[in-house]
Amino acid sequence: MTTDSNTLKEPGLLTISNPMDWKAIDRFILLACLVLLAPLSFGVSMWATNILAPEWLNQTLVMMLSVLYVMHIAVMGSFILTAMKLRKYTHDWPLFENAIISSFLVTVMTTGYLTGTHLSEALLIIFLGVIITCTLADVNKVKFCFWIVVPILILMSALDYSEVVPYAMLLERSPYSEDGRPLEGWMMVRMTVAVILAPLTYLCILAMKRWTERESLYLEMSTIDGLTRLSNRNSLISRGQEEIRRARASDAMPPLSCIMIDLDHFKQINDTWGHHAGDEVLIAASKVMMDSARPNDEVGRYGGEEFAVLLPGTTLLQAKLIAERIRKRISSMNVVVDGQKIDVTASFGVACYPSPDVEAMSDLLKTADKALYEAKETGRNKVVTA
Ligand code: GH3
Ligand code: MG
Ligand code: MG
Repeated sequence: MTTDSNTLKEPGLLTISNPMDWKAIDRFILLACLVLLAPLSFGVSMWATNILAPEWLNQTLVMMLSVLYVMHIAVMGSFILTAMKLRKYTHDWPLFENAIISSFLVTVMTTGYLTGTHLSEALLIIFLGVIITCTLADVNKVKFCFWIVVPILILMSALDYSEVVPYAMLLERSPYSEDGRPLEGWMMVRMTVAVILAPLTYLCILAMKRWTERESLYLEMSTIDGLTRLSNRNSLISRGQEEIRRARASDAMPPLSCIMIDLDHFKQINDTWGHHAGDEVLIAASKVMMDSARPNDEVGRYGGEEFAVLLPGTTLLQAKLIAERIRKRISSMNVVVDGQKIDVTASFGVACYPSPDVEAMSDLLKTADKALYEAKETGRNKVVTA
């Protein structure tokens, strides 16, 4: 199995490193800067409306919200400044993380409720914030906040219907004209929020991109052998177990063959030509195995200079022929290192599931290994079937 290695690209001159790799405190500084967008955009639209048309807004609430926004900006600002100083000495700062998450929620929920947009824009802003926060902060804290926000939203919706408190308390008059059209000022306010939402959405896309890049990098590192680009031992065994599960579930019980391959006198190659040459031999042998396998076969590096090929739907006899073909190709490989040709041979053990004593993947490997051992014992550069 091979995958292209473009996940391990060299960073370009203008490439920002993945914030998921940054230490926690640096990620929180970035998150805090993003979180400032909420009180800034809400504040700008509220203060502009209050200058142009103060009769539309409830002045007591304008005062209260102004205090909330200014406090949010001041608290986050001082946290950011302190974090900038602390980042040289500390890695993490949970209090800062809690302050970011809670201040964002309080600001967005309060503004949403007072303007009657808690089930539309406010929820969307929280949703985008959640995506970004999940990638940059502690997911468990975000999950905890989710369970706080859901009942608050239900309570807010209940209050909307109850007539206990007026709907959209910040607005003294309905922002819609009699024919249902939004008034000019209200349109402007919502457009200001939309201008903030667009870059926030784009940031979410970037966060998700980083996330998926990280996912594929980890998947690659945990399943692919770095030198030969073949499947590693773990993914080879998982694939074998999966094939045996599938065979058991099928009435036809298709066979699964395994070829174990061990390069002959490989230590001698290392000792004679150096480890660099040994690596070249491993890469060349892997290529031969890959080229000899069918798309559905699994070729893996089992250990140092040991390989295994899993052949679904292949009988012992067919596997033996394939092993023989690989053996010939390896022995006629042309590996040239520093102008010197290195002669390489390998020994092969072949086993098949199902057969007596082969009921699981571990049996299949053990049996193929036993046959391989016999090939070694009886002269090397040969194929032995179990
Ligand atoms: P045999 O024919 O009995 O298999 O003998 P051998 O020399 O091939 O087997 P042995 O187990 O004695 O030696 C295997 C050697 O493979 C020892 C180890 O240093 C080398 N080796 C394992 N992994 C690597 C690798 O990634 N690169 C290189 N160059 N050598 C490796
Ligand atoms: Mg060997
Ligand atoms: Mg060996």
